[in-house]
Amino acid sequence: MNKKISYPEAKRLRFPEDEKKNKWLPWLLDAYFVADKGIREAIIKRLSRGERLACAKGCSNCCEIHSTIPVYPLEVVGIYWYVIEKLKGKSRDRLRRQLKEFVLGKPCPFLIDGVCIIHPMRPLACRHFNVFNKPCEKGEDPYYTRRHDVLVPIEKYKNKALSLMLPFHGITQRAKRKQAIKEGYLNSLVQNLHEIDWKKLASRMEGKILGINM
Ligand code: SF4
Ligand code: SF4
Repeated sequence: MNKKISYPEAKRLRFPEDEKKNKWLPWLLDAYFVADKGIREAIIKRLSRGERLACAKGCSNCCEIHSTIPVYPLEVVGIYWYVIEKLKGKSRDRLRRQLKEFVLGKPCPFLIDGVCIIHPMRPLACRHFNVFNKPCEKGEDPYYTRRHDVLVPIEKYKNKALSLMLPFHGITQRAKRKQAIKEGYLNSLVQNLHEIDWKKLASRMEGKILGINM
């Protein structure tokens, strides 16, 4: 008998007031929604083959060891916005200190007590990284040790998500967006999350520099 496969539906995040104020925010939230739908579909395919998703809340070896995390310009703006506008209380203070002290070689600066503090706005690269069958060992990068256990994202969703970010770069027409994706336009703009100067974000959290534009 076939076991029923279940995996939570992807949900489009909603911040109605902020989306009215920030024209770019719905583009980013739509992009993440499409990406999450694609990830769900790819995960369900593998679950239905009898594989087990190893990723779970609290499992964070990947965030500790990955030092190359591609992030697109609109995603960086999204992180700035989320951190400045939405994070409150003790976790905000912890993050501010962590961003100030961050140096290359340390775990991701957004990892606090084994949890991604910007989880709703984590970049596409983090959303796409899912591992099957057994959790990563301390220090293991399954991309090298057992690539067959790493989820391969479905290309059409991945491209659609990238395409939805293009209006941020002034590329709005459908045909032009299609062409830009084909030519890998966004690849030329990608940054490594670990190499971004997050001290600037820490300063903005302290109110030293106003606004979220970098
Ligand atoms: S990628 Fe590996 S370390 Fe990260 S959540 Fe999944 S199983 Fe855990
Ligand atoms: S942004 Fe979040 S999910 Fe991505 S590596 Fe950092 S802590 Fe992990």
